[in-house]
Amino acid sequence: MANFPAPPSPRTRVRRLPERGAYDRDTVYAILDAAFLCHVGFCSEQGPVVIPTAYGRRGDLVFLHGSAASHMLRSLERGVEVCLTVTLLDGLVLARSVFHHSMNYRSVMVFGRAEVVSEEAAKLAALEVITNQIAPGRWSEARPPDARELKATLVLALPLQEASAKIRTGPPKDEAADYGLPVWAGVIPARTQFAAPEPDPRLPAGIPASASALSRTSPRWQAARRTGSGRRAGTGALPRSRRK
Ligand SMILES: Cc1cc2nc3c(=O)[nH]c(=O)nc-3n(C[C@H](O)[C@H](O)[C@H](O)COP(=O)(O)OP(=O)(O)OC[C@H]3O[C@@H](n4cnc5c(N)ncnc54)[C@H](O)[C@@H]3O)c2cc1C
Repeated sequence: MANFPAPPSPRTRVRRLPERGAYDRDTVYAILDAAFLCHVGFCSEQGPVVIPTAYGRRGDLVFLHGSAASHMLRSLERGVEVCLTVTLLDGLVLARSVFHHSMNYRSVMVFGRAEVVSEEAAKLAALEVITNQIAPGRWSEARPPDARELKATLVLALPLQEASAKIRTGPPKDEAADYGLPVWAGVIPARTQFAAPEPDPRLPAGIPASASALSRTSPRWQAARRTGSGRRAGTGALPRSRRK
């Protein structure tokens, strides 16, 4: 791997508040594994575009998927440079002065070019990664894609070669003179929480509850999302064209 995890490349080195930057695999992967939504930015023929979409990580690859007709995926398929970001909001930071208001967060930026995953087994494995990152264990509960569905789905792999994390934690940082002001200051913690699963009205009687659906509401998952301790970093299989 060229630049990741360390040292940072010229474009991944955090310049603004550099003490909040991190470039090691454990930090970057923990943030990537605690989420499943990202924003993919790239220059399309119509100009800059940023698309929110789902993803899954395995090893040093981030997988994206969607309709084979998707504008984003077709652009990425052509090998355009992308910047993928993931943001976890951990809290609102209310300072004594408006100027010093902030947020606690964990975020990641990944730069690179994605490659198409075309080999059927690799494509299915990538879809399994995405599915299970969104709803752990769901792949083994639901019907797998058939040949028609697989053909209609484009899967891309973005290598984790150039990435940075940025993290803010803790209370507000006010001007020394402002600490005496009679203004409330502190942090309002933010948590993403799923509520109890709502069964489809067309669900026949006798179908047991989904372990995958329940896992999203479990205290264990909520804690893992908070700390980013969901999964261990591993080494993913590369698409064929990168196995050189
Ligand atoms: C939830 C949230 C809210 C924010 N709100 C604001 C706001 O209101 N105003 C504001 O100015 N900034 C905000 N930031 C911080 C913002 O993301 C940038 O870090 C900051 O604006 C500095 O931008 P820059 O272009 O000067 O970064 P630079 O430090 O010049 O960026 C250089 C490189 O550092 C890395 N980097 C920079 N920022 C991040 C990041 N957030 N995550 C991972 N890698 C990063 C990238 O690799 C980037 O190419 C917020 C961040 C988050 C996650």
